[in-house]
Amino acid sequence: MESLKNQSLFHTKCFINGEWCDADSGEVITVTNPADDSVLGTVPRCGATETRRAIDAAEKAWEGWRNMALQDRCRIVMEWHDLIEANKEDIARLITLEEGKSLVDAVGEVNQNNAHVQWCVEEARRLYGETIPSVIPHARPITWFQPIGIVFAVTPWNLPMGMILRKAGPALAVGCPIIIKPASATPYSGLALAELAKEAGIPNGVFNVITGSAQSIVKEVSDDFRVRKITFTGSTEVGKKLMEESARTVKRTSMELGGNAPAVVFEDADLDAAVDCIMTIKFRHTGQACIAANRIMVQRSVYDEFIRKFIDRVRKLVVGNGLTEGTDIGPVINHHAVEFLSALVQDALEKGAKVVCGGKPHSLGGCFFEPTVVTGVTRDMRMFQEEIFGPVAGITPFDTEEEALFLANDTRYGLAGYVYTRDLARTFRMMEGMQYGMIGVNERVLSIAEIPFGGIKESGLGREGGRAALKEFVDVRYAMIGGLNR
Ligand code: NAP
Repeated sequence: MESLKNQSLFHTKCFINGEWCDADSGEVITVTNPADDSVLGTVPRCGATETRRAIDAAEKAWEGWRNMALQDRCRIVMEWHDLIEANKEDIARLITLEEGKSLVDAVGEVNQNNAHVQWCVEEARRLYGETIPSVIPHARPITWFQPIGIVFAVTPWNLPMGMILRKAGPALAVGCPIIIKPASATPYSGLALAELAKEAGIPNGVFNVITGSAQSIVKEVSDDFRVRKITFTGSTEVGKKLMEESARTVKRTSMELGGNAPAVVFEDADLDAAVDCIMTIKFRHTGQACIAANRIMVQRSVYDEFIRKFIDRVRKLVVGNGLTEGTDIGPVINHHAVEFLSALVQDALEKGAKVVCGGKPHSLGGCFFEPTVVTGVTRDMRMFQEEIFGPVAGITPFDTEEEALFLANDTRYGLAGYVYTRDLARTFRMMEGMQYGMIGVNERVLSIAEIPFGGIKESGLGREGGRAALKEFVDVRYAMIGGLNR
């Protein structure tokens, strides 16, 4: 990885108990760059044995980590944050190399999610319990929080660094050791974080990264009672499997799952501002984001005007290697994703939609897909019901607010929704009526460290960010202290 300034960030081994190691079997997984299919390297294909080793190491490390003076633990985690900040350019480069997104998006991913680490370090000092008013005169009930124990994190490829930071930040800050299994397509960002964790002085066994066979690693974790929490970001399908598996040893789970975000544009909206926002929420990260606008719905009276303005902008998007300056849209993650997008567009065409921009694999070949706009999308089309996860925008017309609300909620997903209107009463009706964990109103940014990020319905359980972030990694404990009036 010659293009990195800090060569020590590139690791092709797993990180268990503070040591870089291979799989006992010697087997590896090959990692490629989606921009040109070149091989970036390999990582170990670990399984049950290495997983058990990581759990043993985490168990050994837990007591020291949880009992460390809070300010010392926070200082170490903050040192990790600072090292990530100092190595931001290289880390962003690694993200782009393994995931494909533009460098601008990759830097955004690091900034936004490293802010979570800082937030969690600061909040860990304010994790207050309660003294509860007592109905028993001689006794006082009090509560406090304790770290839950060993945490196992499974993360996706689309935000290979961000999703690790959001999980490790709160887990480490409250005193839990963590074992991370990054997506096999994008393991290098997580391994770079392990290097910086070591450098920051996070003790051996507290931060571990194992790559390999998802199923055998997860099986071992699920059967091991010592792991008390599974935190997952990925598809709803895999999330459901993890919930089933974690039931075997009754682990706590947090599930950040798929989305199918509606972006509803009313005739009273500032149309230029709405187009501007929707360009970001649709095409950021090459459209491969869980909170990406998946269904754009526009009131019929401004439908044509919106489409005209939107297409003007989409045509200007620059497709290319994410490392090239000026690139807006990188490759999608793999060839299968290109086929998937083509199939979604084909399905929409067959059911009566129109492609008004793009619509096919890009002439650059490989994993590149044209920024695409499809109009006349209806409920029976796959791109209305499924996560598109690529630079394809589907637009659906509607007539009334009632219809817009019905369409917006016509999905099992409930992660993020967006609404564009200048009518205050309508804003509140939509905000409260749209069944989503997060609503953007005349806005493009939802995800900041201070808010409770997460979904409802089949988009998941639990929250990342805000005060809720830390609560996911602690048990609330309670004691009744009696005999006080004797
Ligand atoms: P995915 O296929 O569900 O994979 C996510 C992780 O689960 C990977 O580490 C994967 O490992 C592992 N995995 C796959 N099959 C497994 C199994 N049977 N048992 C246990 N683990 C398994 O998701 P993805 O394609 O990487 O990511 C895209 C999805 O993530 C989208 O649905 C997106 O909406 C969602 N997402 C949600 C959020 C949120 O905050 N709600 C944020 C980002 C992404 P391998 O890579 O080794 O297969």
